[in-house]
Amino acid sequence: MSSFQNTVDVDFPTAAAKRAIPRLSIVVPCHNEELALPALFERLERLNEDLQAAKLISQNTEVVLVDDGSYDATWKMIETARTPLTVRGIKLSRNQGHQQALFAGLIHAGGDVVVSMDADLQDDPDAVIGMIRAYLKGADIVFGVRASRESDTWFKRASARTYYRILERLGVDLIPDHADFRLMSRKSIRALRSFEESNLFLRGLVRQLGFTTDVVTYDRSPRVAGESKYTLRKMISLGLEGVTSFSVKPLRMIVLFGFAVAAITFLYSLYSIYAWARGDTIPGWTSVVLPLSLLGGVHLIALGVIGEYVGKIYKETKRRPRFIVDEIVSAGDAEQDIEA
Ligand code: UDP
Ligand code: MG
Repeated sequence: MSSFQNTVDVDFPTAAAKRAIPRLSIVVPCHNEELALPALFERLERLNEDLQAAKLISQNTEVVLVDDGSYDATWKMIETARTPLTVRGIKLSRNQGHQQALFAGLIHAGGDVVVSMDADLQDDPDAVIGMIRAYLKGADIVFGVRASRESDTWFKRASARTYYRILERLGVDLIPDHADFRLMSRKSIRALRSFEESNLFLRGLVRQLGFTTDVVTYDRSPRVAGESKYTLRKMISLGLEGVTSFSVKPLRMIVLFGFAVAAITFLYSLYSIYAWARGDTIPGWTSVVLPLSLLGGVHLIALGVIGEYVGKIYKETKRRPRFIVDEIVSAGDAEQDIEA
């Protein structure tokens, strides 16, 4: 069952450990996850037991479930959760998006280390064991990286591969095949809070933090229940966020393209003058219409790219809150702390 591989191989407890045994929080954004929650609770309970047995956590695990505007039974299930885990439920006032929900959870988590994962168990909870070991060795951020993407659809795999390649070309610093399954220390979360942008692309922001980092690889499983909550529109929107939040290269590309077109046009005008001087200037419908319509399209694209950035500035200047909390509840067994 356990499929995590740990890149740091420490047997704990050892003298190599640099840190005190932490309290663990797990943050899970949930949008209409009523079908996945029972399996999630069960897996996290088992993980909690395993971590306690291995003496890798100092207290009962806190699970921070952020309800991101669900309209199924998700919130009801969070409120009434009967589990030995310590549950903290954060209900957002509406659907604010995965990244915002995750950020809200990170801010409300009380642990010394906070692991973020999806509700659908695509992120292997067993990998958390490796993450905590890496933390104990000194890492402040531990990235969960997918060793395989077999469980994803062909489309998701191809689009992800192309996307990461484009981002790399644009100079965006990302860990390939790492989404939002990662461990962060309290210190790194405090640093993350100092970033005030409202356009959130957390996997990119986290790379800006610095600190000691490590990587744990895991096999990505299929969704345990329900359907993907990432519509194509949400995927494209997140994708654009990643580009425009971390790179202005698209703007520079427009400038370079403009120069290239200007150079060609200059040569073309020299030729036109020459043709005029020779007196054969009547034909040329194609050579007028073609560049005109082509350049019309290019202009619109260029304006659109600029518009993306301007829109972004517009959103940032308003400094609206990144999420609005409707309600916070405690559930599960908050009392059952174990001995350190
Ligand atoms: N999610 C969310 N708000 C949204 C969309 C998704 O909180 O608007 C959550 C969702 O409940 C899940 C995680 O984000 O826990 C990842 O979504 P999903 O598994 O549907 O995406 P996929 O794995 O298909 O990319
Ligand atoms: Mg998923």
